Amino acid sequence: KNLVVAIDGYSSCGKSTLAKALARKLHFIYIDTGAMYRAVTLYFLRNRVDLTSEVMVKEALKNIHLNFHFQNYQSHILLNDEDVSDEIRQMEVSQQVSEVSAIKAVRTEMVSQQQRMGKSKNIVMDGRDIGTTVFPDAQVKIFMTADPKIRAERRFKELAAKGENITLEEVFENIAHRDYLDTTRKESPLTRAHDAIILDNTELTEEEQLSFALEKITP
Ligand code: C5P
Repeated sequence: KNLVVAIDGYSSCGKSTLAKALARKLHFIYIDTGAMYRAVTLYFLRNRVDLTSEVMVKEALKNIHLNFHFQNYQSHILLNDEDVSDEIRQMEVSQQVSEVSAIKAVRTEMVSQQQRMGKSKNIVMDGRDIGTTVFPDAQVKIFMTADPKIRAERRFKELAAKGENITLEEVFENIAHRDYLDTTRKESPLTRAHDAIILDNTELTEEEQLSFALEKITP
């Protein structure tokens, strides 16, 4: 049987950093489900899809084809064959993504694609509902948290390095807003699976987080 490592948690907790490190160490495939919701959001923004129209949303979903492309342990996401890995990190997408992710038709489609991707392969998948909804039977589940101020500072540094013109306050607000929407939405809200191990990384280095997770996977 293939092995599934599910990593869930709040926004900007370092889920993808840990997931990538684990995938690299274990030679597993890494799937960033947040990137999928972001790519859908980008498509909706570009095509001015009315989020309140179920017909338009469903029609748009039919025209969206997502693929992951792996190169030198870097995962790239392709939206209808276009590499949008950088564009999906822009603030405009971050500000819309939680509303898009709360739409039932969007979640149904993403969850079924994610389940297909992890069906027969060893994977590390990160997101908000992996251990609860996508792979409730995942062998290893990690739920990540960190001090909100630290999270905002880490994300701010990343975005500033990429030349995004934003303030620390805007990043903090965005993270808090997404956490609020993600934990209060009707469709599989962000919550810890009862069998998930909590990892608070406020004071942990990346190396320490990796050892912690590896211990849970290969005891
Ligand atoms: O992981 P990341 O922060 O890039 O995810 C962006 C947004 O996508 C989250 O704030 C959340 O609204 C949504 N998301 C989700 N379910 C997932 C992954 C992400 O609803 N499994």
